[in-house]
Amino acid sequence: MPQTHLVWLEAPEIAADARPGQFVMVRCGNNHDPLLRRPLSIHQVTAAGRIALLFSVVGRGTVLLSRRQQGDCLDLVGPLGNGFTIEPDSHRLLLVAGGLGLAPLLFLATKGLDEGCSVVLLMGTRNVSLLYPLSSLSSRITCFTTTEDGSAGVKGVVTGLIAECADQADQVFACGPISMYRSMACDGGLKRGRVQISLEVVMGCGVGACYGCTIKTRKGLQQVCRDGPVFELDEVVW
Ligand SMILES: Cc1cc2nc3c(=O)[nH]c(=O)nc-3n(C[C@H](O)[C@H](O)[C@H](O)COP(=O)(O)OP(=O)(O)OC[C@H]3O[C@@H](n4cnc5c(N)ncnc54)[C@H](O)[C@@H]3O)c2cc1C
Repeated sequence: MPQTHLVWLEAPEIAADARPGQFVMVRCGNNHDPLLRRPLSIHQVTAAGRIALLFSVVGRGTVLLSRRQQGDCLDLVGPLGNGFTIEPDSHRLLLVAGGLGLAPLLFLATKGLDEGCSVVLLMGTRNVSLLYPLSSLSSRITCFTTTEDGSAGVKGVVTGLIAECADQADQVFACGPISMYRSMACDGGLKRGRVQISLEVVMGCGVGACYGCTIKTRKGLQQVCRDGPVFELDEVVW
């Protein structure tokens, strides 16, 4: 996957507390440039106290992070945010990843499988080079892919597959761009109150102090870092 990095960290305290959908704030450079930490989802966790981050390089922070070497120490704060909730009556989970939206969803898939749920994963990217390698996914996950140029899977966008899979699911979990959520919000076939999304907005402090990630919801103004990043799809005002 071009411009995409998978980093494994020894972080036993974070690994012990982390829930799927939570994130860490990462100091990307060696000093205070850039000043603000960057939010990254907890991608995977091991019982041995390791966590993985999966990120794409988009700007200064992630460029610096991508240059870190094996053995470096990273300064992280976390786990932060609320995370996804698998309801007790949910046995069939549908996960929808747009682009690198798989980052928080793989941890959720693992938890779902551990709890005896079935997991269907829909992954959509612009082209085949951006698709997460299917060989790295558990064979217990049923996976369908789309690419916008038709270079792998079904040609089109991932939301095109949701309608036929959502009927068979007790809950839907999604992570991707806002355009994907807007399209899902217009999909009358999705069960109300059974769709959780993770919002990856631009974030300042990550701990509810700066109000930089405030969004409009049906409950009023909320902060993505403190009240989210996971929200019910119906809660957010698009
Ligand atoms: C809760 C949360 C979890 C996240 N998890 C992941 C993850 O697991 N993997 C991953 O690759 N990314 C993730 N992101 C997005 C990631 O935080 C940003 O890509 C990163 O902060 C960019 O930092 P930068 O310094 O490289 O880019 P900057 O220099 O800060 O920005 C470069 C450009 O990207 C835009 N940008 C920055 N952040 C975002 C964003 N969140 N959405 C859209 N455009 C943005 C800026 O406006 C600017 O135009 C997550 C975001 C949030 C809020």
